[in-house]
Amino acid sequence: MSRLYNFSAGPATIYEDVLKCAQDDMLEYQDTGMSVMEMSHRGKDYKEIFANTKSSLKQLLNINDDYEILFMQGGASMQFAAIPLNLLSADGLAQYIVSGSWSKKAYKEATKFGNVECVASSEDKTFSYIPNVENIEVNPNADYFYICQNETIYGTYYKQLPKCNNVPLIADMSSCFVSEPIDVTKYGMIYAGAQKNAGPAGVCIVIIRKDLLEKNAQSICPTMLEYTTYSNNDSMYNTPPTYTIYICGLIFQHILNLGGLEAIAKTNYAKAELLYNCLDNSKIFKSTVAPHNRSIMNVPFVSGDEEIDKKFIAQAKEAGLVNLAGHRSVGGMRASIYNAMSIEGVEKLVDFIEKFEKENL
Ligand SMILES: *Cc1c(COP(=O)(O)O)cnc(C)c1O
Repeated sequence: MSRLYNFSAGPATIYEDVLKCAQDDMLEYQDTGMSVMEMSHRGKDYKEIFANTKSSLKQLLNINDDYEILFMQGGASMQFAAIPLNLLSADGLAQYIVSGSWSKKAYKEATKFGNVECVASSEDKTFSYIPNVENIEVNPNADYFYICQNETIYGTYYKQLPKCNNVPLIADMSSCFVSEPIDVTKYGMIYAGAQKNAGPAGVCIVIIRKDLLEKNAQSICPTMLEYTTYSNNDSMYNTPPTYTIYICGLIFQHILNLGGLEAIAKTNYAKAELLYNCLDNSKIFKSTVAPHNRSIMNVPFVSGDEEIDKKFIAQAKEAGLVNLAGHRSVGGMRASIYNAMSIEGVEKLVDFIEKFEKENL
């Protein structure tokens, strides 16, 4: 067996220890006589797995009792509709910052369901930066204010949050979820598709402040998109993605065992620094992102020459460094260095970049 260094943006690399643990449990989970996949979601054994996943996440992000954790399907993309359907009132207003493809999609989807305003965009420079939040006036009457905290495709990250005062801040954290400690109380709602940093594809984790659940959803909101359908039934109104939730639980527990988010963040910042230093010193490649907006999770870079990019991606693959092509919409390269990418993997990539440079200058 030889596992590759997988720099995919998602579904993404998963801790080997977690995969081994799942392998051990594959045929029979503890003494239950069956795999997790085969259990009833309403049975005692699965209920325990589910409760453990939730409590590990609560511990990891230090989530207090003012918040509810929901497990939904439909990916992060389904939330683009669910958010306005649940939280935007008929005569209300929602404000968005458009800082990349994901927030643009979320904004466009929301316009179907009410009065939505884009207050700032970085599309003028192909989303290579995050609009300055100091210059943004949040409307105090807005139902919510929306950002995508880490734009996976462009590799940008909010180091500073907009000042929302009493307006609930909603953040798509799909690609930066559980990557460093955050103050959950600054947000009305956080959500994340699991397949970047939290587990396999199939579940979207929603952390929502309870008072927002008291808002009436729009009358056209489908039952399966309504947050209270999940909060009133502990995310078991219908069958949840049981196996995915189990793997997420293993990953959360694994991160706790590694020392929690402080420890994870330390490694993540070290990994990112290694790679950005290499790119900043490179004579062939460069980072595409303004230094103060750089993501520690997704690192796009370019040579400016499509042929060189292609050659790099092909040779990297031969060296066991895979999925380094940039998103189809932007080209170039992108290294996603999520939690489960080891520092050794990033060192291998840096060595490879340096070697490639020597051979191609
Ligand atoms: C991947 C991603 C999405 C889309 O996730 P799906 O689960 O495929 O719908 C949305 N937002 C961000 C920031 C992402 O990284």
